[in-house]
Amino acid sequence: MKSFGYAAQSKTSPLAPFHFDRRDPGPKDVAVAIDYCGICHSDIHQARDEWGGSIYPMVPGHEIVGRVTAVGAEVTKFKVGDLAGVGVAVDSCRVCPNCLALEEPYCTKGMVGTYNAKDYDGTLMHGGYSDNIVADERFVFSISPKLDLAAVAPLLCAGITTYSPLRHWKVGPGMKVGILGLGGLGHMGLKFAHSFGAHVVQFTTSESKIADAKKLGADEVILSKDPAQMAAHTGSFDFILDCVSAPHDMDAYLRLLKLNGTLCLVGLPDQPLSVQPFSLLAGRRSLSGSAIGGTKETQEMLDYCAEHNIVSDIELIGYDKLPEAYERVVKGDVKYRFVLDGKTLKS
Ligand SMILES: [Zn+2]
Ligand SMILES: [Zn+2]
Repeated sequence: MKSFGYAAQSKTSPLAPFHFDRRDPGPKDVAVAIDYCGICHSDIHQARDEWGGSIYPMVPGHEIVGRVTAVGAEVTKFKVGDLAGVGVAVDSCRVCPNCLALEEPYCTKGMVGTYNAKDYDGTLMHGGYSDNIVADERFVFSISPKLDLAAVAPLLCAGITTYSPLRHWKVGPGMKVGILGLGGLGHMGLKFAHSFGAHVVQFTTSESKIADAKKLGADEVILSKDPAQMAAHTGSFDFILDCVSAPHDMDAYLRLLKLNGTLCLVGLPDQPLSVQPFSLLAGRRSLSGSAIGGTKETQEMLDYCAEHNIVSDIELIGYDKLPEAYERVVKGDVKYRFVLDGKTLKS
């Protein structure tokens, strides 16, 4: 199948038009014409090889939504014309205990990433900054026509990455929950935690985000650079979702957890974290992490969003704005996710 998109040819080259081939849809495959693709901060890390091991050429993008254009003979979930989404993975081994439990991000063989990854047969995979994608129906999700399709795209990564840990730790009424960072991930974590009925406290370093956080559902906002505001909440949180990708003081947040409280990382600082053991021992606290979410839970999240009218807050842009968007994401200057409009992709 002929495809066209934007690719990085090296860690220093800007994304540029790129023609490539994808496999033709097999019996269980779904082909999707891409309408929109979100820009995740991890796209930038990988395009610039900031985590190491990047594979070029690379077509980034794993927040993909569009319309089904072809289905294989054994596909049961989709027909041509359906709305569909593809997220961070396009395959996994399917036979390890974690795959059998539909927790594919934790596949012991390693799942196949949507881009910057090789399929098990060695084929280089390309992502959603492109006009189409082919994937096994297990990794393609149904999308409700009730929601704004462009604003659905970020649910496929930022949405499920925050939904999954909030569900795993059973966030709901009667719980005090902190959301650390108000960016692409944080704003979705805030919306979900609020929707699940928790008392939600947003942490931010910038006074300019206080009003926004309240609008998005925060019951309280803490300016994390104010020690007095932080101290007032010592030992009071059931759960904190840490959505920050820059190095930060873990002990300052662990101290805010109550007995048996958990701080869960979903952001990915590129440096090792430092933690005082006492911050964990005092209060029998847990420091944990969570990676995206499995296929069953991703569909559950999308269905929940359709039922509760939850989407990402986005800035829809054309492909001509890609370089500028990358710079603004790095600066945290986006409310709260850029989404590329497929209509502006011209070969
Ligand atoms: Zn992502
Ligand atoms: Zn597996």
